[in-house]
Amino acid sequence: MSSLTEANVLQALRAVRDPDLHRDIVALNFIKDLTISGSDVSFSIELTTPACPVKDEMKAQAEQAVRSSIPGVGAVNVTMTASVSQRANMQAAPVLTGVKNTIAVASGKGGVGKSTVAVNLALSLAREGARVGLIDCDIYGPSIPLMFNINEKPRLHDQKLVPLEKYGVKVMSIGFLIDSTQAVIWRGPMASGAVKQFMTDVNWGELDYLVFDLPPGTGDIQLTIVQQIPLTGAVIVTTPQEMSLADARRGMAMFQKVNVPILGVVENMSYFVSASGERENIFDNGGGKRVADQFSVPFLGEIPIYTKIRAGSDNGRPVTDAEPDSEPSRIFRTIAKNLAAQISISNFSKQSAPIEISLGSNN
Ligand code: ADP
Repeated sequence: MSSLTEANVLQALRAVRDPDLHRDIVALNFIKDLTISGSDVSFSIELTTPACPVKDEMKAQAEQAVRSSIPGVGAVNVTMTASVSQRANMQAAPVLTGVKNTIAVASGKGGVGKSTVAVNLALSLAREGARVGLIDCDIYGPSIPLMFNINEKPRLHDQKLVPLEKYGVKVMSIGFLIDSTQAVIWRGPMASGAVKQFMTDVNWGELDYLVFDLPPGTGDIQLTIVQQIPLTGAVIVTTPQEMSLADARRGMAMFQKVNVPILGVVENMSYFVSASGERENIFDNGGGKRVADQFSVPFLGEIPIYTKIRAGSDNGRPVTDAEPDSEPSRIFRTIAKNLAAQISISNFSKQSAPIEISLGSNN
């Protein structure tokens, strides 16, 4: 029988494993602030993202593990915290020094809902407690000002632009700086230069995730942008039909060519449920999963067609903020958590594995 000592609590907690990182939470150094007071024990579990898909399960498992191996233990107080892991290339990058991870949201084709997905994933990550920024890289057709209903211009402070902040997310778009009725007729290098300036001349502060909403396609502009951002990885948005999938494959090939990991594929407009409850696969269904399997990358989830999603974007208040408990918001939240998990896995695999220290038993 185990007595209530720190070593025995840690030994008990070794039974709890992180299902994504495939190690126990003690070896991963997740246990912080362990204190014993009389028969009560308190500790924190520090995860690699606040948007962890298995946060609640892990908390319950940890409580149970301590209770079942140490008889007579009183209260077991577990606090869930997070410190987002930083991508190694961000530690070395001369730009975006306070940013831990950068995510490109891309699509081969326009109109598949790339900006909608980028915005709602950014908001979902922020609602889980992460510090999030969003850069609208679509210089020729910026849609972020409309989707956030922002009409003001960012101000300058210490010779840097201060990003505008709304719905818990810091945002920057060329649309904030130019007249929205004017067409941008810049050549490619100017467009990619503007994106570069959004990295060097904007004070982003400390961020866990900075999302780049890329312009659609796989041309020179996209390639230049992708090469100048120190990226953690890319998310590919596609609709299910072959017409979109062919371009999604080209997009994925582009990222592979420049050695940017693909964090996963999101299938948007997967199906529509009519008022009478009938499901209709307007653009076919399942293509996103197929293309993810084909490239051996994770499939992050599917998003049906919902009027609320379209209306949220048009009204300048995305559905994940306007109706956080609605079905579309729940779906975005799940996909955001899957994405956060993939980032943690990808960062973990790029580090050297922590050394497992065997604890002596005090039994
Ligand atoms: P892209 O960035 O790929 O060009 P957008 O995000 O601008 O595409 O989306 C195109 C249009 O489709 C917008 O009007 C948007 O509100 C709408 N839309 C995107 N995804 C959905 C969805 N799942 N359900 C309903 N409307 C959607």
